[in-house]
Amino acid sequence: MPASTESIRNIGIVAHIDAGKTTTTERILYYAGASHKMGQVDEGTTQTDFDPEEAKRGITIYSAAVTCHWKDCTINIIDTPGHVDFTAEVQRSLRVLDGAVVVFSAVEGVEAQSETVWRQADEFRVPRLCFVNKMDRIGADFDRTLGQVRDRLKGNPVVLTIPIGAGHEFKGIIDLLQMKALYFDRETMGREIEVTDIPEDMRETAARWRSKLLDSVSMLDDEVMTAYLEGEEVTAEQIHRVLRAGTLARELQPTFCGSSLDYCGVQPVLDAVNNYLPSPLDVPPVEGINPSPKKGEDEHAIRKVDKNEPFAGLIFKIAADKHADMCFVRVYSGVLKSGSRALNPRTGKKELISQIWHIQAGHREKIETDAVDAGGIAGVIGPKQVVTGDTLCDQKHPIILESINFPETVISMA
Ligand code: GDP
Repeated sequence: MPASTESIRNIGIVAHIDAGKTTTTERILYYAGASHKMGQVDEGTTQTDFDPEEAKRGITIYSAAVTCHWKDCTINIIDTPGHVDFTAEVQRSLRVLDGAVVVFSAVEGVEAQSETVWRQADEFRVPRLCFVNKMDRIGADFDRTLGQVRDRLKGNPVVLTIPIGAGHEFKGIIDLLQMKALYFDRETMGREIEVTDIPEDMRETAARWRSKLLDSVSMLDDEVMTAYLEGEEVTAEQIHRVLRAGTLARELQPTFCGSSLDYCGVQPVLDAVNNYLPSPLDVPPVEGINPSPKKGEDEHAIRKVDKNEPFAGLIFKIAADKHADMCFVRVYSGVLKSGSRALNPRTGKKELISQIWHIQAGHREKIETDAVDAGGIAGVIGPKQVVTGDTLCDQKHPIILESINFPETVISMA
């Protein structure tokens, strides 16, 4: 059964190199039931770094798109490259995703490339969550990192989990929605989570953070403000509603902490992807240029996320597979069908859509499908004369989706 458009999350995980993007992605894939055996970055066996050359170099050169499932949602993770040389590649990924999880290291804090990526996410109007990783490392400082997100990135992090201890003393997290302590068991790779009352010595701190959360939420919503001022209980549903609206409006970033190495703190991030990040229906319709407008027709074209519209999709990455190149396509409107021909308006050529695959993380398995509806992402085999950034579209309704503007200064930034 194809996923309903409301339940799709097209997300990216973005970070400065070494902040733990690959490890966090692995944990997400693991919890989302896609992975049997966890990949280990240091052994070069992770799910998203599947190119041997890439694994050898230990950096994610290009963006693979993998699909996983968490609760009611289908999450397509577009793995954005972390290396500074590939900023143009990051931009291309940001263009096709609807939301992002920004990973920071609690030791290094906000680094130069985090600023570049954050600015680009602003430019592409990408709603985001923050995950402050590496809380188990010596020198980890959650508060300092939050301060840097505010001061250097001009962000508005709204904290939903806080660490219990830091460095060698890091033991788990406190979930400020449930007001419970969560301890993760590394032996069972975080599958076993002990949920307890908040330890005595953390109660005051937790209560202070919970008040900060309610302050932030009530500032944004009159109903919550009234309830809060009158001393009524603010429900989790009310908090979710306000945080979702604030995230979509890019006024705030729900923020979490943990250690992806210890599997700790990643599950609340997955819940937040479902609860707060947009579905393809929440983002504005895609705009483009009609290359051959008929008399009286406007050059400017808009396509809605609707499977009854003519098909239009963007090739955001081409990956060399063993047998044939695979083009990763974001379908913006209509339906991409296996066996059909799609126009590449740049070349004027019709390209055959021989096969359509979903890349399921876990077994590096590809699952073939007949069609992908508007809002979805898939790997396509067949197109020959295409390059990254090309549009594929309905032959009778040509459109060139907005070209990506790469400012020179950003590309050459070190
Ligand atoms: P990326 O470059 O952002 O993709 O970062 P990686 O996920 O490859 O992580 C960089 C290094 O940091 C690897 O050696 C990881 O094992 C390590 N690492 C990642 N997350 C954590 C964490 O939460 N705690 C600790 N101690 N190490 C981590």
